[in-house]
Amino acid sequence: MERRKFLQYAGVGAASGLTGCKGESESKTQQVSTNTNKTWEWKMVTTWPKNFPGLGTGAEFLAKQINAMSNGHINVKVYGAGELVPAFEIFDAVANGSAQMGHGSAYYWKGKYSALQFFSTTPFGMTAMEMNAWLYHGGGMELWQEAYKQFGLVPAAAGNTNVQMAGWFNKEINTLEDLKGLKMRIPGLGGEVLKRAGGTPVNLPGGELFTSLQSGTIDATEWVGPYNDLAFGFHKIAKYYYYPGWHEPGTTLECFINQSAYDELPENLQSIVMTACRVANQDMSLEYIARNNDALNTLVNEHKVDLRKLPDDVISKLAELSQEVTAELGYTDPLARKIFDSYTEFYNKSRAWLDISERAYLNLRTG
Ligand code: CA
Repeated sequence: MERRKFLQYAGVGAASGLTGCKGESESKTQQVSTNTNKTWEWKMVTTWPKNFPGLGTGAEFLAKQINAMSNGHINVKVYGAGELVPAFEIFDAVANGSAQMGHGSAYYWKGKYSALQFFSTTPFGMTAMEMNAWLYHGGGMELWQEAYKQFGLVPAAAGNTNVQMAGWFNKEINTLEDLKGLKMRIPGLGGEVLKRAGGTPVNLPGGELFTSLQSGTIDATEWVGPYNDLAFGFHKIAKYYYYPGWHEPGTTLECFINQSAYDELPENLQSIVMTACRVANQDMSLEYIARNNDALNTLVNEHKVDLRKLPDDVISKLAELSQEVTAELGYTDPLARKIFDSYTEFYNKSRAWLDISERAYLNLRTG
């Protein structure tokens, strides 16, 4: 009775609809097992250390969903950074077909095409909720597809970190002057903003951050948030942990697929791959919400990390520089302009709505 009721709400109809739906789904199952005897062995290369909490495990989760949903017709094997190719070579590896899938984040590929950074995150830009709304319901995904098509890749959102932390420092940040001369690992547009504030941004894969900070190759680093940062042990080598993550307010992790490998799949398997990405996208985002606060408590209470908020005047200067950097990126070429306009238009609309919904509600939650 409950199921019938649900289907009615879903617009499927009453008793007759229920029968039709069941029959249709059975015949689709048969199609998969009878028409597609072929199996596909796929390699997924990633920018993360194998099974790294949240990110690496998110890639494994995605592979597992595809394998299970396709009933073994697609077998995806996940490779950690450096196992098949180094972290920052996975884009090329998938584009040239040495692997079929990649798991990373689009701002790592700014050297290929700078406007790809819009599909990761922008400083002072959209949150996870807004990014997903733009991608799925605001035209963002179509633009991402257009941008990746030139490399022979099909993109999908496959995770989100939500708002990150500003990072780990060994000196206090009291004024913008304190960022001058600072050599900090910070990717994407946030890195460009740090540069304009007088710092030196460095882009390194996660697996190299601990030793780089420990050896003094870099003075500071951001990574993700408490759950991930605790796992890398940054509290052992840095004193101050700053928030909020102005530079990465809702970073989209991606799965990208070699276009020919994708085109070779029957339509139902293509749909399985895309649906699995959608499930993985939401799952990772929720895992961060579920785990970050416990990890933060461990960092502060057990490891005595000094948790600090960036001063308001530093934040407002960084916001100004961010606007400048993001707008400049939007004017680099016609496609970048199209992406920038779509992003900005959507962001303005979502901000207006979230101001009187999420923000208004969060402001009510006192004490
Ligand atoms: Ca980060």
